[in-house]
Amino acid sequence: MEREDETVSIRVNLLPKPPARHWIGMAGLHGCLPQTCGGYDTYDDACKALVDTHELDRNRRRELRRDGYLELNLHRDANEYIEITECDCASPKDHNE
Ligand SMILES: [Zn+2]
Repeated sequence: MEREDETVSIRVNLLPKPPARHWIGMAGLHGCLPQTCGGYDTYDDACKALVDTHELDRNRRRELRRDGYLELNLHRDANEYIEITECDCASPKDHNE
């Protein structure tokens, strides 16, 4: 029994690490690279960070959480949109800037 377990754990260790699933939260102007961009472990974390940054009221907070996307008011928010997308690249930290 023990021996079988060992074999299994060795096999698992030999497999390439699956990419860690994570979320990218970004905000910016349409047609440009995002002005801000961050990698987050969960959808919720990404939501919260973007809500804080843009001081979203309750309605817009709900819309962002529901759609993973929100149109902003450039004059008021200094950005045109917020978007949260799923990502599974191998280097989540590279999204932070
Ligand atoms: Zn990624």
